[in-house]
Amino acid sequence: MSTELTGYKPSDSVSVLKGIGPKKEKILKENGINTLEDIIYVFPRQYEDRRNLIPISEMKIGEEVLVSGKVVSKRSNFYSRTAPLSLLVQDDSAVMEVVFFNGRFLDKLFDIGTYYTFYGKASKNFDRNQLIHPQFAKTGSKDDIRGIVPVYPQISGVSQNEIRRIQRELRPLYSEAEDFIPKSIQENINLASLAYSLENLHFPTDGKKVLSAKYRMVFSELLTLETGLMYMRKGDSSQNEAAEISCAMGDRFMTKLGFELTEGQKAAWEDIKRDLESKKRMNRLLQGDVGSGKTVISEMAMISAAESGYQSVIMAPTELLAKQHLESFAKDFAPYGYRPELLISNMERKEKQRILEGIESGEIKIIIATHAVLQENVRFKKLGLVITDEQHRFGVNQRKTLSSKGDAVNVLVMTATPIPRTLAVILYGDLDVSQIRTMPKGRMPIKTSLVNPEDRRKVYDFVEEEVKKGRQAYVVSPLIEDSDRVQAASAESVYDELKDRFKGFSVGLVHGSMKQEEKDKKMEDFSNGKIDILVSTVVIEVGINVPNATVMVIENAERFGLAQLHQLRGRVGRGENESFCFLITDANNEIAIKRSEIMCQTTDGFEIAEEDLKLRGPGEIFGTRQHGLPQMIFADLSRHGDVLEKALESAKKLIDDDPKLEDADNLALKKRVKSMFGEEIELAL
Ligand code: ADP
Ligand code: MG
Repeated sequence: MSTELTGYKPSDSVSVLKGIGPKKEKILKENGINTLEDIIYVFPRQYEDRRNLIPISEMKIGEEVLVSGKVVSKRSNFYSRTAPLSLLVQDDSAVMEVVFFNGRFLDKLFDIGTYYTFYGKASKNFDRNQLIHPQFAKTGSKDDIRGIVPVYPQISGVSQNEIRRIQRELRPLYSEAEDFIPKSIQENINLASLAYSLENLHFPTDGKKVLSAKYRMVFSELLTLETGLMYMRKGDSSQNEAAEISCAMGDRFMTKLGFELTEGQKAAWEDIKRDLESKKRMNRLLQGDVGSGKTVISEMAMISAAESGYQSVIMAPTELLAKQHLESFAKDFAPYGYRPELLISNMERKEKQRILEGIESGEIKIIIATHAVLQENVRFKKLGLVITDEQHRFGVNQRKTLSSKGDAVNVLVMTATPIPRTLAVILYGDLDVSQIRTMPKGRMPIKTSLVNPEDRRKVYDFVEEEVKKGRQAYVVSPLIEDSDRVQAASAESVYDELKDRFKGFSVGLVHGSMKQEEKDKKMEDFSNGKIDILVSTVVIEVGINVPNATVMVIENAERFGLAQLHQLRGRVGRGENESFCFLITDANNEIAIKRSEIMCQTTDGFEIAEEDLKLRGPGEIFGTRQHGLPQMIFADLSRHGDVLEKALESAKKLIDDDPKLEDADNLALKKRVKSMFGEEIELAL
């Protein structure tokens, strides 16, 4: 072991290492590796098990093998720079050939009569077993390649052997790396120490020890993540007193609905009622598939608030959705003498003025809004309840801004994007969760089928039958315009095609680069039945409710994620008529096929969300960057749900006991949190 290192600290630059000159230093730095500690944190991606030496005679072609033997002959051409070096190596069982191209420089490393150990992929040269470019070492030397050998991430210009050598040099430093998990947690969970984990990850001797080291790393990443999130959200839950809202009115409203709530709706309402009627501030997430009936629940909560003298607001992600809500809320609340009002950006000045004044005076009790309500000039008299619809479209900060417009605001977050439980814990770790997993009675499942592009015509023949019956159809395509690079139907070309195909019917087009008013106009025309077939890009993903639409055609379905497909399909099947979804694709890649299969098998959004998480990984699902979720090395949110919940529990307790992480025992974790979240966490502090 190197003694030169004594005196070096984990924070020293990588350039102090032997063999790391300016060139390699630059490469390492480009890979984010600046200090010795950074190198310590470069972990093996996997391990090669090189413990079992096999006889040369038992080498199997294509397998990685570990063999050992005596060099009995060497052949190379000293005068040629490019001639291979060929060794014959013999053990008790057989003789094999070992070949190195450009072998001239290796020649001197092998002595005839000496034993070497080789590791590589077995091949054959005529009858003789062969290894080409194996790893090797003198048997019994300190460089011996036997054991469980770590395989590090590729860094171009720095070889595996070099990283292994560096780790050997840094090994004495492992015990000096700062263990940032507070002692109390360490003992509580019975976690391996950082030094133990580093040692066993870089120099594994035993599978069990590696596992406990990995567990610790997973836990520590998730603990850091959750502590950071808790830390950021502390503002939300620190104030616990909230408006007490009697829910008698909501109950009355419920009995007059004309339909009975589903079991899931009832349970959700009981949860919400309990929250609202208590002094404690409500912080609840209501998850339920598209069409599961979240809106009535929000109506029941809002009318209860109004009756108890509080203002409430529901925030929708688009103006269209807000208008849709306004229409149905106005109708539903009229018998009770409440008149909801709309607040959006696009409003006449005078009308807006009237609304703003009504909100400020407290005269307006029920407000339906877009993010326009977040503006500073919107002041409430007595805000008691805030609801966000389709929460995944809003960030945590927007939710906070809205709830800070009152002193004691109850918060209900609704989403139709069912999030697997593990992700809900992360995204909404501070929220209680209610789920509606039952659909209203009489809803017919949407018939979903997978269609080969050759049968496209049949799909549109079917669409024709439906529109002839007076129904409407959506056609979704992944792109706006045709592109040379991508072989996929664009909305524009599909639109052109269908305009010709459906003479006598009205075909409309809507896509993302249209002006908002233009889009809204088209959607409204579709909603009013003026358009029979609406061709679009994914812009129709959110919330639009057209019960008369019975067909959803998705072109190039392979280009959409599962959650997206599910959302799109949810646009149909909202009325009393049987609905259909066609996924047109000729994709032959495995994931695309799997996705389509899942779509054909189930309409349960929760099931689909779980599958989606498995197929894509969490990063892609909610755009980690967008949510500021940092990258992790060991933790995999699709597999480590149980560890996540443990970490969450510990993080909660930690932040409850020491909200600013000021205890000496917690400072190291705080530092770690900051380095994981970067700037973002500073902003939130
Ligand atoms: P989402 O959860 O997608 O917001 P909605 O609240 O828009 O769903 O509900 C979809 C439709 O189902 C609405 O027309 C609503 O009136 C109706 N609905 C809600 N609950 C029930 C129920 N229990 N029985 C029958 N129809 C219901
Ligand atoms: Mg809804």
